[in-house]
Amino acid sequence: MREITVAVPGGSYPILIGGGLLREVGVRLAAAGCRGSLALVADAGVATLYAPAVAASLKEAGFTSTLIEIPAGEQSKSLECLGGLYARFAAAGLDRRAAVVALGGGVVGDLAGFAAATYLRGIDFVQVPTTLLAQVDASVGGKTAIDIPAGKNLVGAFHQPRLVLVDLQTLETLPEPDFRSGLAEVIKYGVIADPVLFALLEARRQEILARSEGLLAEIVSRSCEIKAEVVGADEREAGLREILNYGHTLGHAVEAVAGYGRYLHGEAVAIGMAAAASLGVRLGLLPAETAARIEALIASFGLPERLREPLDPDALLAAMHRDKKARAGSLRFVLARTLGAVIVTEVPDELARAAAVAVQPRPPTE
Ligand code: NAD
Repeated sequence: MREITVAVPGGSYPILIGGGLLREVGVRLAAAGCRGSLALVADAGVATLYAPAVAASLKEAGFTSTLIEIPAGEQSKSLECLGGLYARFAAAGLDRRAAVVALGGGVVGDLAGFAAATYLRGIDFVQVPTTLLAQVDASVGGKTAIDIPAGKNLVGAFHQPRLVLVDLQTLETLPEPDFRSGLAEVIKYGVIADPVLFALLEARRQEILARSEGLLAEIVSRSCEIKAEVVGADEREAGLREILNYGHTLGHAVEAVAGYGRYLHGEAVAIGMAAAASLGVRLGLLPAETAARIEALIASFGLPERLREPLDPDALLAAMHRDKKARAGSLRFVLARTLGAVIVTEVPDELARAAAVAVQPRPPTE
C-alpha cells in the first residue's frame, strides 16, 4: 500500500492506494478518527458491485452505516438528489460526529461531498473513489459541487475529506471508455508536471491498458502526488491550482456545447489538450515535436484529439467565455512549454477560436 499526504491549511489527510483496500475500509476509517455513524452513498451500479464488501468491513469495525443509493450519472448532481440525501441523513439520525462515505466515481464524490459540507454546517467526509478519473483527480483536493440548470458545478464548496481510500482492484470492473477517460487526466499530469510519468505512459501503454495493478499503482500514486502538491500550495484556486486546468478551457466548452454526456469528461479534456498543444506551437512556446508526442500519446490510448462531429467554433468560443474560470473577459489557457512545465496565459479570442476550428473533425478522405 502507498500513502500520500495532502497538506492543506488547517490540517492534512492521507490518500491510501492499494489493491483490496475495500476490505479494510472499516479499520482505516477508525484509524483516521471516524467515530460516529456513517452514511454510505453510492450509485446503483457501484452499490451492486461493492457496497456489500464495504458495509461488511464497516460493520466488522463496529460502525453503524446506512446505505444510500442514487441513480448513476451526472443528472444525480442535482438539487433534488441533494435534498434526498439530506432527508436520508436526518432519517438515519446523523449527528455532528457522523461521516459521509462516498463510494463511486466523481458524481458520487461531488454530490455526497457537498452534502457533507453543508449538512449540520459540515460533517466528516471520506472518499472511496472507484473510477480512474475519481482516483487521480476528483477525490483529491476538496472541491465538491452540484449542477444547476444554469451550468455544471455552479453550486459547491471546498470540503476536504478526512481520508481518501483508493482500491485499485475496483478498476477491474470499470467500463473501457471510463477507464480511458481517466487516463486523459493522467496524461495531463505528465504534461503539466512530470516528464517521467509521460515517458512511462508512452513506454508501457499495453500493460496500462491491460490494467496491470503494479502500473496502476504507479500512475495513480504519481498523479495523486502531483495533485496533492498543487492543492497543498493553493487550496482555493488562487493561483497555482489553475495549472490543473490544462486541456480544460476548451474541454469544458466541448462538453457544454455538445451537450453533457455526449463526450466523457476525459475525452473532452483530451481534445482540449491536443488543442492546447497546437496553440502552444502557434505561439512559439512549444516545439512542434513535443506537441506531436502529446497528440500521439492521446491517440495511442484511444482518446480523441478532435471532435467526432462538427461543433460551431463561435459557440465553443462563447462557452469558453461563460466558463467560471474565465476572468474579466479574457480567456486563460494553460500552455505547455515543454513536458513538465506549463504557463497560464491570456489568449486573444481570434487564437482561441482558431483552436476551436483546429479540433473540428478531419474532412473524409476520398
Ligand atoms: P461517474 O461518477 O458518473 O462514474 C462513471 C460510471 O462508472 C457510472 O455509471 C458508475 O456507476 C460507473 N462506475 C464507477 N465505478 C465503477 C467500477 N469500479 N466498476 C464499474 N462501474 C463503475 O463519472 P466520473 O467520470 O468518475 O466522474 C465525473 C464527475 O466528476 C463529473 O461530475 C465531474 O464534474 C466530476 N469531477 C470533479 C472533480 C473535483 O475536483 N471535484 C474533478 C474532476 C471531475
